[in-house]
Amino acid sequence: MTTLLLILPVRWAPIWQAPLRDAAPAHGLSNLNLIVHGKDAYAPGDIDYALGFRPDAGLLGSLPKLKAIFSLGAGVDGFLSDPAFPKHVPLVRFVNPALSLEMAQYCVLHTLIHHRRFRTTLAAQAEHKWTQAMPEKGTAKTGVGILGFGEIGIMAGERLRDLGFAVAGWSRTKKDVPGIESFAGEAALGPFLARSDILICLLPLTPETRGVLNRRLFAQLPKGAYLINAARGAHQVEADVIAALNEGQLSGASLDVFETEPLPKDNPLWAHPKIIVTPHNAGLSDPIAAAQSVAAGIAAAERGQPLQNVVDMARGY
Ligand code: NAP
Repeated sequence: MTTLLLILPVRWAPIWQAPLRDAAPAHGLSNLNLIVHGKDAYAPGDIDYALGFRPDAGLLGSLPKLKAIFSLGAGVDGFLSDPAFPKHVPLVRFVNPALSLEMAQYCVLHTLIHHRRFRTTLAAQAEHKWTQAMPEKGTAKTGVGILGFGEIGIMAGERLRDLGFAVAGWSRTKKDVPGIESFAGEAALGPFLARSDILICLLPLTPETRGVLNRRLFAQLPKGAYLINAARGAHQVEADVIAALNEGQLSGASLDVFETEPLPKDNPLWAHPKIIVTPHNAGLSDPIAAAQSVAAGIAAAERGQPLQNVVDMARGY
């Protein structure tokens, strides 16, 4: 018998149990035993695999026979922030084209909201005013910069390129994507920012990227640039975002992620006239697709084959 521990809010367990039960036989896992942490009794030594998003610190380190850990999300900062995380156990992140596409849609939607000055149009409608708000610059001259040009960043960049924007990506290593300029490494960050009228953050949260969306970075953008953060709340220094908007260095921001989630009711970001707040729903992992990935991963591990999308512990993503 192979035992998988589900570490998620107990009320969510049924959403994941049924797809996992459905997916297991097709991958040759006729004996997959599902245990829900916080609901079912279990002995730590019985657990072979674990699946979750933001497990309690110390929990994974207390499971002595773990063979692999599966993240329900693309980001794994919720695992690696645990000082007792068992780094010798492979951590597999969720990489899925449907999730990347949802994220790309969010980036396209918010780029267009800002580029087409759609908030001005909505405000005019509320006052019954016929105001033809138009883009400040032509599309081909509008630089969209994607901080974090990986699985999701590339898909978003390709969609925005196809809409006619001048897209560039920034990553650690150079990328070769037709029609998109690639900037890599710290030295290239300044030139990348200088051409980004709309900056989209799709970086993983690591010690290097925490707080990257700060006053110093905003000052390197063209005056009046827009910010879209669909990565992690801890990338942005909230007070610096508000200051940059109030000073006009930023013209607007779309924020999907926050240092504290759900965003507290009294947080000033909610009511800021230049900010669009969305509730961390830019891209949600589909349980059926995720269950297929997890079952395939467990089956591969049981056969002694290499796992896909294993996190590099040294890089932290
Ligand atoms: P990924 O494929 O690992 O891509 C990460 C990109 O960031 C890579 O291009 C990487 O460069 C670059 N990068 C990492 N550290 C860097 C650094 N210090 N300097 C420069 N570039 C750096 O990740 P992904 O699948 O695209 O996901 C990105 C993030 O999106 C996730 O970590 C998650 O936090 C977030 N996310 C949010 C939602 C939501 O609903 N809001 C949903 C899904 C994901 P290299 O290519 O050179 O390695």
